[in-house]
Amino acid sequence: MGDHKGDPAKQPDICRNPVFTRYSEDFPRPPGGWGDGVWSKCPNIKEQTDYIDFDGEQYDCDVCGKSYYLDYEDMK
Ligand SMILES: [Zn+2]
Repeated sequence: MGDHKGDPAKQPDICRNPVFTRYSEDFPRPPGGWGDGVWSKCPNIKEQTDYIDFDGEQYDCDVCGKSYYLDYEDMK
């Protein structure tokens, strides 16, 4: 899957067009969850665990190379 990394034309749709799913009876907020819903994540995005950060979490996608930072303060 590393062949696609960094090539926007080959990124999966879900990487380019994240979908917001609002929590509902059918899709309840998980324990410890924040906000009104969740954004879809890249299929291969995963938390970076090579460093510890108590203010948030760093995620990277091996497919499209996208990364984002989940800031706990922003999620409150
Ligand atoms: Zn991705």
